[in-house]
Amino acid sequence: MAVKKILINSTSKLYVKDTSKEYHCKDGTFSAADLQKKNTSICTKQGTAFFILDAAFLDVYEKMQRGPQIITLKDIGLIITNTGINKDSIVVDAGAGSGALCCFLAHVAKKVTSYELREDFLKIVEQNKEALALSNLIVKNKDIYEGIDEKNVDVVTLDLPEPWKAIAPASKALKPGGYLVSYSPTIPQTSDFVEQCAQHPFIHLKTCELIEREWEFDRRKIRPHSSIINHTGFLTFMRKVGL
Ligand code: SAH
Repeated sequence: MAVKKILINSTSKLYVKDTSKEYHCKDGTFSAADLQKKNTSICTKQGTAFFILDAAFLDVYEKMQRGPQIITLKDIGLIITNTGINKDSIVVDAGAGSGALCCFLAHVAKKVTSYELREDFLKIVEQNKEALALSNLIVKNKDIYEGIDEKNVDVVTLDLPEPWKAIAPASKALKPGGYLVSYSPTIPQTSDFVEQCAQHPFIHLKTCELIEREWEFDRRKIRPHSSIINHTGFLTFMRKVGL
């Protein structure tokens, strides 16, 4: 069951799935009657105040089920802004993994098809798809290295151990001017991918990584958080030129 409501204050965010019964947290208990309210402040029986809101896409997304390592929001942002994915875009993705990337892309694009080898991960993605009500996401239990069924695709995104094996299928599936994006945690994978793309009709637009540095605000103690996630992955952007 997906998150229905969130309870938020300056220190906590709570996710409520079932609003038909009392909700217990470390600050106390909310009555079922209060959980029917929204856009107002409610208190635990012990007196701690929270604002109650309908869960938005991102609230449900944050509670997604996890299987393999996911692509982070900062990297998803970079993918969307460097390819211009929008409500008219047809996207193919692989591997679906936990569905973090393909679910977010389906929230933005017209249609997303994601390929995944493992049936156990496929089930996780199907559950996440349902929780997020993404009817425009199709998950296929197929090996993308063997081929892509879709044609005239705007963007292909890859998060695979050997992304270079998906270059030829991606090249066939993409429309002229379409984008091929590969996410890899290491440089040897990135380097092999870039080198092998040169054998196909692609222009290498850029390879980059994004380091996000969040700051803490605690009265006058305003400074970068002492611990940050330093490295996630490298993103390579290719553009298909030719037919
Ligand atoms: N981008 C995903 C995580 C992908 S992890 C997310 O954000 O959640 C990499 C996935 O690729 C794994 O689930 C693995 O099973 C899948 N995979 C590996 N080789 C594949 C192939 N040839 N075709 C389809 N999926 C593949």
